[in-house]
Amino acid sequence: MNERRKQAIYRPLRNRCPKCGEGAIMQNLVHLHKSCPHCEFAYYREDGFFSGALPINYALVSVFWLLPVMLTWILGGISGTTAAVLSGVGAVIWPIALYRYSQCLWLAMYYGVIVDELDTE
Ligand SMILES: [Zn+2]
Repeated sequence: MNERRKQAIYRPLRNRCPKCGEGAIMQNLVHLHKSCPHCEFAYYREDGFFSGALPINYALVSVFWLLPVMLTWILGGISGTTAAVLSGVGAVIWPIALYRYSQCLWLAMYYGVIVDELDTE
């Protein structure tokens, strides 16, 4: 993996612009900058660009919350009612908590695969 691709992956994981590594991606916990505050690289490529973050968010919640809760229930560690409550509460809280990270992860995946698009603007 070349250095440019590594940077395109690691920078968004640290909430930094995939192009310059200086500007933040997230304004706050729920809002993204439309472009890099440092180099003005556009984060919003087109309408629906960040819809790729939705399956990432879903996968994170499923693998790191719902699956462990279900396995604990199946193995007898908790009751079915407890598992249902934990699953329901976690299915609301975790997607919100992971919203920011899943968007940054989406940018990392996108520019990690299509690193040449960093040169388009
Ligand atoms: Zn930048």
